[in-house]
Order: sequence, then structure tokens, then C-alpha cells
Amino acid sequence: MNSFLLRFPQGKSKLFTISYDDGVEQDIQLVELMKKYGIKGTFNINSRRFAPEGKCWPEGFVQRRMTAYMTKKAYDTPLVEVAVHGAAHLYPSFVPSSVAMCEFIDDRRELEKMFGRLIRGGAYPFGRYNDDTIDILSKAGIVYCRTTVATKTFDLPGNWLKLDPTCHHNDPRLFELCDRFLSEEPRYLPYFFYVWGHSYEFEDRDNWDRIEQLFKCVSGKEEVWYCTNIEAYDYIKAYEQLIFSADGSIVHNPTATDLWANCDGNTVHIPAGETVTL
Ligand SMILES: [Zn+2]
Repeated sequence: MNSFLLRFPQGKSKLFTISYDDGVEQDIQLVELMKKYGIKGTFNINSRRFAPEGKCWPEGFVQRRMTAYMTKKAYDTPLVEVAVHGAAHLYPSFVPSSVAMCEFIDDRRELEKMFGRLIRGGAYPFGRYNDDTIDILSKAGIVYCRTTVATKTFDLPGNWLKLDPTCHHNDPRLFELCDRFLSEEPRYLPYFFYVWGHSYEFEDRDNWDRIEQLFKCVSGKEEVWYCTNIEAYDYIKAYEQLIFSADGSIVHNPTATDLWANCDGNTVHIPAGETVTL
């Protein structure tokens, strides 16, 4: 064997996902667009920052956080993963460790209670973190956390607790990256296209057409896997558990996830729990 490379479900060679923060009213419209185009993604929210029921926002104020009721309704679709963003959206590196710890643990606990799901991902409030924050997150059972540092590449994440996105939706290179993502066939590792932002920015800049255009371009492609952040994490981590014979001719999948790879140019399926001779 000369090469054995990760591929996504059904042998797909590309992945597209999004990540939006703060739980604002405009997320409802964004989720509608996700449904229209079959896009999946993750919403990072602050369980101590829901708007009170009946809250009236001042005219022209765009950062309108949803009430707890609206939040639960907005994300009630399998297209959406809910993730932590600090219970009160504090700067994790500007507060004592004990406070930062509560920020993430409390958020995780509250959101799990609210949605009845496991919550294992997140995004750093203000994109800020330090080594202490990373330590806290891993102890709190958070397996990945998004930063705001744009890679402008389709590289797979190295450190999932410093998960750098490809770019923000307002990045001037967004459509250039999108064109590259769609037109190039990955020669080796699969492509990982990850866009982040805040949906209130679409209202603020009056550019909802931008995200719709992106979804329209990227959707419905045979070679693209549309997934939430945690689905990407779980799949790649399962792939990393494959066990090979010394000469690489036998591979065993000890996980409960069906896995795919590209072996010497051919797509290989390694079903959950099975052993495959290559
Ligand atoms: Zn935020």
C-alpha cells in the first residue's frame, strides 16, 4: 500500500460546516436558509444571556438575543448542533480560573438540560483563550472549541481545542475560497471548509444575500459532506482509531461508526466493527 487517506461518509472528499455565535433572533432566518439548502452547522450560545420573555429591543438594535423559549424552538432540527459559548459570555482569559470553569461547566449543564442532548463543543467568547482555558475545557468534557483565527485553507484541524475556521462570512476571499473548494479535487487529505460568524451581522450589513449565495453554491454536491462541527469531530476521531496490520494490508475498525478511506486511489469502506483486507 502506498497511501491510505481519510475520506468522509460514502467516500466523500470534502466537508462543509458552519458555526454561529450568541443565539440571536437572526439565527431563526439562518436556520431557515440551512433547511432550504441542506446545510448543517453549530450554534454557540450563552445560557445565562437569554432575553427575558417580552423583551422589547430598541429600534435599530441588531444584537437581539433570543428568549430561552425562542432558542429551544429555533434549534429544534437535526441540522443544528448546540454548543457552549460561556454561560455569561465573559472573556475566559480575563477572569479567575474558577470563574472561567463555571462559565463552561454551567453553560454545558444548562444547555444539556434545556435540549436533552449531549453538548460537547463550543466557541471561545470573543475568540479569547489561554492554556488555562484549554485545560478547563478538556476537563469539562468539551472536545473542540472554535477560535476566530481564519486559516484561509481547507486543512483538517490539528488541535481541536484551537479549532481555527477557514474564514468569517464577511471575509473578502469567501467566494474565491468557495470556488477553489468546489473546483479542486483533493489529491491527498480531504478538504475542510468551515465558515463562522454572527447572524446579526447579516442584518447589520444588509447582506443576507451573501450567505444565501454561499449556501446556494456549496449545496447539493455529491462530493461534499454537510455536517455539524461535532459530527466532523466524531467521524475524524473514529477514523483515527483504525488498527492496521504491520504491512498495512489488513485494517480493523473497532468503532461503532462506518468509515471510509482512499487507498491507493480507490475508495474503501470499513464498516463499524469489521476487519477489511485491502
Ligand atoms: Zn460571542
